Amino acid sequence: MAEKLSGGCACGSVRYEAGSAVLMMNCHCRDCQRATGSAYAAFMVVPKDTFQVTGVLTYYECAGGSGKSIRRGFCATCGSPVAIEVEVAPNIVGLLAGSLDTPTEFSPTMDIFTACAQPWDHMSPDTRKVPGGISG
Ligand SMILES: [Zn+2]
Ligand SMILES: [Zn+2]
Repeated sequence: MAEKLSGGCACGSVRYEAGSAVLMMNCHCRDCQRATGSAYAAFMVVPKDTFQVTGVLTYYECAGGSGKSIRRGFCATCGSPVAIEVEVAPNIVGLLAGSLDTPTEFSPTMDIFTACAQPWDHMSPDTRKVPGGISG
């Protein structure tokens, strides 16, 4: 795995660099389904202090299932989801795997909120399945 991750949005206005991932996972919650427009959100989780953005990430903030805030960072020009920050785990940032320059570096070990997964969403048999969230 690369020491440094890099990526950005579809139009190139937002670019980022980050340190190596501490966790890789897929979140199947309804919120991630809506925010990505797809079956789940695939995240590289990195230490927040390694995350550096060039350009402007616009944040949409809402309350997660626990009542704590979730901030979704996206490019206001092209709409690509790029990052997610959660109040329950303030020291980490989730980077959308599809935004990486090298998405093949993504190798998830875990699927969370599988209770909300769609019937047309086929998960890898190799990952750990968690019906709900992992932080608390
Ligand atoms: Zn963009
Ligand atoms: Zn989610």
